[in-house]
Amino acid sequence: MQNKLNELKAAALRDIHKIDSIKSLEDLKIKYLGKKGELTAILNGLGGLSKTERPLIGRVGNEVKAALTAALDSRLSELEDAELQKKLTAETIDITLPGRRIPAGRPHILTTTENEIRQIFGELGYTVAEGPDIEDDFHNFEALNIPKDHPARDMHDTFYVDDGRLLRTHTSPVQIRLMEKGVLPIKSIMPGRVYRCDADVTHSPVFHQVEGLAVGEDITFGDLKGTLELFLRRMFGAQRKVRFRNSYFPFTEPSAEVDVECFVCGGRGCPLCKSTGWIEILGCGSVDPNVFQAVRIDPEKYSGFAFGLGIERIAMLKYGVKDIRLFYASDLRFLRQF
Ligand SMILES: [Zn+2]
Repeated sequence: MQNKLNELKAAALRDIHKIDSIKSLEDLKIKYLGKKGELTAILNGLGGLSKTERPLIGRVGNEVKAALTAALDSRLSELEDAELQKKLTAETIDITLPGRRIPAGRPHILTTTENEIRQIFGELGYTVAEGPDIEDDFHNFEALNIPKDHPARDMHDTFYVDDGRLLRTHTSPVQIRLMEKGVLPIKSIMPGRVYRCDADVTHSPVFHQVEGLAVGEDITFGDLKGTLELFLRRMFGAQRKVRFRNSYFPFTEPSAEVDVECFVCGGRGCPLCKSTGWIEILGCGSVDPNVFQAVRIDPEKYSGFAFGLGIERIAMLKYGVKDIRLFYASDLRFLRQF
């Protein structure tokens, strides 16, 4: 009986080593150790043995069972390892392949220009205010001292929406909305989109302005000059000459246009500055008393100044862009230059 057990053990160990799949190993386990397995049959038959034989065969039988269980477990883990290794090899990532390049984005040149303007006025203590793109006649014209029959309306090429409302033709209505709130003093810039029915190489139906407004007691034209000179030198260079030229706007009195020395020729004269040596950059002036009256601010007590500039115009001049449409064409060859 003992020999039979040893033979069974030897045969089983040989079989276990030959097995090369987990499934076959399972079958083999059942063949020897299952309920109807060969070893189980022997161990179940112990009762028919003599009292002297029984403990010995029982012990050997258990030893064989332990040995087979250990061999099966060890073969199982070998097979599992081999399977994992095979899977890993099959799934190897080829790290020599170049990765996909994700192009980096950047702010649009108009955004950068607007941010520069915000930065400079922010340092001067100006807050930023915004207003609606769709305006009514009162805020866009009437309150800015441009009544219905005023010739200045012709220059605005207005897009009308419905029931008298319109797409704002400048950022100046935001000034009116700000002053209507009645919180004084005011020191604010108002960047935003504006709309005019006009399109060529220097005009777009949609473009961007920045409006500036300061209202308080004892604000003079001298404050306006100092503020804009500082702004323009920060924007275009510390040595850049700046001049104020008499002008007219309905909402300011007195009014001025501001020129800076031509960036291309440095004042000697060239096609960009039409041989004058100067480039017109913005409009400004002291707030007209009629505007104050429209928003119920006492013009005897308060004074102020306002200015407005085109972001596209500044960017065109600063970077030598000749066609305004390039800003909106989303052509990466153009946008990547900045
Ligand atoms: Zn020039």
